[in-house]
Amino acid sequence: MTLVVVIGHMNPDSDSIISAIAITHLFNKRGIEANAYAQGEVNSETEYLLNKFGIEKPEIIYDLTDRKVALIDTTDINQLPESISRANVFFIADHHQLGGLKTSGPVEAWIKPVGCTATILKEVYDYYKIDIPSNIAGLMLGAIVSDTVLFKSPTTTEEDKKVARELAKIAKISNLEEFGMELLKVKSSIEGIPAKKLLFRDFKNLDMNGNKIGVGQIELVDLSMVDDVMGELAFEVKEVKDSGYHTVILMLTDVIKEGTELLYLSDDESVIHKAFGDNTKWLPGVLSRKKQIVPPLEKAFQ
Ligand code: MG
Ligand code: MG
Ligand code: MG
Repeated sequence: MTLVVVIGHMNPDSDSIISAIAITHLFNKRGIEANAYAQGEVNSETEYLLNKFGIEKPEIIYDLTDRKVALIDTTDINQLPESISRANVFFIADHHQLGGLKTSGPVEAWIKPVGCTATILKEVYDYYKIDIPSNIAGLMLGAIVSDTVLFKSPTTTEEDKKVARELAKIAKISNLEEFGMELLKVKSSIEGIPAKKLLFRDFKNLDMNGNKIGVGQIELVDLSMVDDVMGELAFEVKEVKDSGYHTVILMLTDVIKEGTELLYLSDDESVIHKAFGDNTKWLPGVLSRKKQIVPPLEKAFQ
């Protein structure tokens, strides 16, 4: 039998790692031999969650040539290795815009506009009538808390909240709020982490009208946490920009005050102002790259 490679996007976040692990368990239960992999090192938040629930971190893989692939948390070819074009993608679970993937055969696709892929996977588990083990439920809950910023992100749906409550029950987590705040603290911890790593902590490559765009996001429980490293972050933004990007944006998101400061460099700054106005030092209410940064930017590039 062909081993299925289950994989999420580049610069993996918790959802892309955890949902890969969760769907791998479901495949195995259904008699499909599968293994979860990652495109790169897991971040510190994911590592915290994996340790907490006693699950090993997935191996790293980049070459997907001739592999049977289940794609998690993305279909965007800008967030996948070039070898995806030679893979046999047969399964997708995602909650983003469709991103130009072509497949060689038919696909089982679970795609919905909810706050997290893990939310969709609960539905997949229910559909196949398979029980979610308590530790995987805990991980999935962590992914939902992370992706929805504890249900504050405008990407959050009622389904995310409902699934989170169900998963908390399975994982025997009695205080969801406490679990969530603890996780947000881990997520926003920047101590001792080099600026380059911070910039790439949650970084996505996008193509806008033929221009290469990079958008990173650092979620913080207080914006002042980055005061001391602003100079270094600006330097790293320039480094990445100079490596061949039209625009590089770093979102510094205050998840408590609920807003975002943009640090950016662009070949055409008027695009940034067209998309976000003149005051990019504070975009009130902006928490989501997917919903509040990418769409206006794409519009500005048209
Ligand atoms: Mg993701
Ligand atoms: Mg996600
Ligand atoms: Mg995210």
